[in-house]
Amino acid sequence: MNRCLCCYKELNKVDNDFSWHDSCIKRFFRTQKILEIKFGEESINKFIDSQVNKGNTIQGVQKKITFGLSKKHNEFALIDFPLGYILKPQVKLYTQLPEAEFLTMQMAKVAKINTVSNGLIKVNNEYAYITKRADRIIIKDKSVSLAMEDFCQLQNRLTEDKYKGSYENCAKTIQKYSSRPTIDLIEFFLRIVFSFIVGNSDMHLKNFSLLEINGSVNEYALAPAYDLLPVNIILKEDEEEFALTLNGKKKNITYNDFLKFSNHIGINEAVAIKIIKRTINLEEEFKKMIIDSLLSEKMKCDYINLIHLRCEKLKK
Ligand SMILES: [Zn+2]
Repeated sequence: MNRCLCCYKELNKVDNDFSWHDSCIKRFFRTQKILEIKFGEESINKFIDSQVNKGNTIQGVQKKITFGLSKKHNEFALIDFPLGYILKPQVKLYTQLPEAEFLTMQMAKVAKINTVSNGLIKVNNEYAYITKRADRIIIKDKSVSLAMEDFCQLQNRLTEDKYKGSYENCAKTIQKYSSRPTIDLIEFFLRIVFSFIVGNSDMHLKNFSLLEINGSVNEYALAPAYDLLPVNIILKEDEEEFALTLNGKKKNITYNDFLKFSNHIGINEAVAIKIIKRTINLEEEFKKMIIDSLLSEKMKCDYINLIHLRCEKLKK
């Protein structure tokens, strides 16, 4: 199936060079067509938001370019304000990270996870992953900033300690600060289950945030999911299944660990079982999505096998 590189639904006719629905272009860029994004190494360096070379983590080598778009001269120009988009181009060390991130974000959406808007665009003839910042919204043609804090900040930890802690502690952070803790805890549990199934072993403290809601600085809810990658197929030497501990473990996670975890964070066991079942039941759908993706045949195969293995582990 030919799929849109924004919503990933079927694309009947490709009437532009971008493989995006016209409606998706309008919604995402607020333009009639995808304008060209031009930049060289120099401007990329200028706009790099974080390039923390930390050990063997994938996100450490991913360049994140935070930028705004100015639509003058029929092309997008990188501007400092309002910094509404984040672009992640290809990196030399790992192949097809943008394609893998886009696919995994789409799978998350199918799993009913609240995700940031995202897509794939061509930059310098290669696919780059593009996402809209969750903490910027447009009201009456003006960009408005929303307060957003990641769990590292909320737990008063330094950035280098983002791999310290547990998912149980993250649940406490939600209970403490979220204005709708019950909904957010269930969404959080779902994200942990999904991350296990897709081999996303890099869900550290900076990959969860609370975001201002209802235009009030005193009301926060779990921010839409971002930075979802099938790390276990890209970084095979990494044996850990999780970035933080779940029931005291980072690997050899079992079905029972998830049940104990749900119990610990106050989610009814029947609800937890339902979430697990519903997510593993998506295995066939995930497989179809992977087959239709832009990943190499080898990566498709690895990804399908990993998901199968993980779903089997969660079958009771
Ligand atoms: Zn679309």
